[in-house]
Amino acid sequence: MAINLEDPKRFRPLVGQAHQVAMNMLRPISRKYDKAEHAYPKELDLLAAMIDGLSESGAGEGAGAAGVRRDEAAEDDGVRNGTNLASVMSIAEMCWGDVGLLLSMPRQGLGNSAIASVADEEQQARFEGVWAGMAITEPGTGSDSANISTTAVLDGDHYVINGEKIFVTSGERADAIVVWATLDKSLGRAAIKSFVVPKGTPGMTVERLEHKLGIKASDTATIRFEDCRVPASNLLGSPEVDTKQGFAGAMATFDNTRPLVAAMAVGCARASLDLTRDLLSKAGVSVDYDRPAITQSAAAAKLLQLEADWEAAYLLMLQAAWMADNRQPNSLEASMAKAKAGRVGSDITLSCVQLAGSLGYSEAELLEKWARDSKILDIFEGTQQIQQLIVARRVLGLTSAELK
Ligand SMILES: Cc1cc2nc3c(=O)[nH]c(=O)nc-3n(C[C@H](O)[C@H](O)[C@H](O)COP(=O)(O)OP(=O)(O)OC[C@H]3O[C@@H](n4cnc5c(N)ncnc54)[C@H](O)[C@@H]3O)c2cc1C
Repeated sequence: MAINLEDPKRFRPLVGQAHQVAMNMLRPISRKYDKAEHAYPKELDLLAAMIDGLSESGAGEGAGAAGVRRDEAAEDDGVRNGTNLASVMSIAEMCWGDVGLLLSMPRQGLGNSAIASVADEEQQARFEGVWAGMAITEPGTGSDSANISTTAVLDGDHYVINGEKIFVTSGERADAIVVWATLDKSLGRAAIKSFVVPKGTPGMTVERLEHKLGIKASDTATIRFEDCRVPASNLLGSPEVDTKQGFAGAMATFDNTRPLVAAMAVGCARASLDLTRDLLSKAGVSVDYDRPAITQSAAAAKLLQLEADWEAAYLLMLQAAWMADNRQPNSLEASMAKAKAGRVGSDITLSCVQLAGSLGYSEAELLEKWARDSKILDIFEGTQQIQQLIVARRVLGLTSAELK
């Protein structure tokens, strides 16, 4: 089946709306919450309510980070079933506004993507409207996520969770945390399951919030679980430990979330490119798209190169989302999109600071902020190096044991 790389027409209103929101609601408060780290951006409540309204009316499909679902009932024509594509396109627009604020949007957490990817129908219904963060990383485990040591032990009709999670996005603000824990570490990665732990559950404590380089509007929490009991029905998906399937269940979340992180990088990078193009134009440097870069000024040639990098990331992002919508295995493409967009996103935003010189470095413009905000997109949901490792394994047909 061929991929049509033109933006689907039916998403243009959604993308247009997201752009308006980004420009009129996110940009005006962008610097305020960059300065007021850990303060909750209360303006987002109104925005979240608007998105809920749009979703209920059916017009807001994919308006936030949680809009990820593989709709079995949808037709296989790539037209009706376009939730992932709608999500990446609208998220890119929102991140043209502000990545930190997008990550702070109520009910749009990465935990919501995990629920959408792994939960059964009853759980989808029960956790609908819940704002969920996602807690995988631990003090002793980052990239090697199969190595987590937080435990979940069945006790009657409850699981008892013990362990410590760090760097949990929306960890303090979310209504619930999706926690990865092992049922039995000796069974390896197949025993890792995810559990929904509602806020206020005894035994779950937010210990501290991190101070960070960028995305300061987003809270990043350390959470301790001490004999924290959750109903057994809060284990997402199947409780069976299927050693043949291995890690596939939990990893399915990443196939959906990595294109979203790529979209964040694409959006933030485009913000930098758009502003830099304007600033260069005001300084008398215009870019001629009909002439080879080598015949233009160094600044124009650099901008052309950055735009080409951006385009490649954008197309990989579309491809990964399109494949998810069409129920094609997309682990390779999701990692390629995340690796490319994460890397060129950081490169573009920092290069734009360079192109704009002292203006780029000063707080008079948002270029310096975007350079700080974009770096995380090359780190979380699997670092640049880990994405490349996954791509290499897939291309070479090697297992994780064969290529580390
Ligand atoms: C702001 C922020 C928000 C976050 N939000 C969340 C969240 O919501 N939920 C969550 O669970 N986690 C979250 N994280 C954690 C994030 O996913 C981890 O930081 C990331 O997975 C990397 O893990 P690490 O920091 O332990 O680095 P490490 O795994 O220790 O890696 C350190 C360096 O070594 C490289 N490296 C590691 N292994 C290899 C290898 N095999 N080959 C080559 N290079 C390698 C890495 O790429 C990296 O450059 C967040 C982090 C930050 C900073």
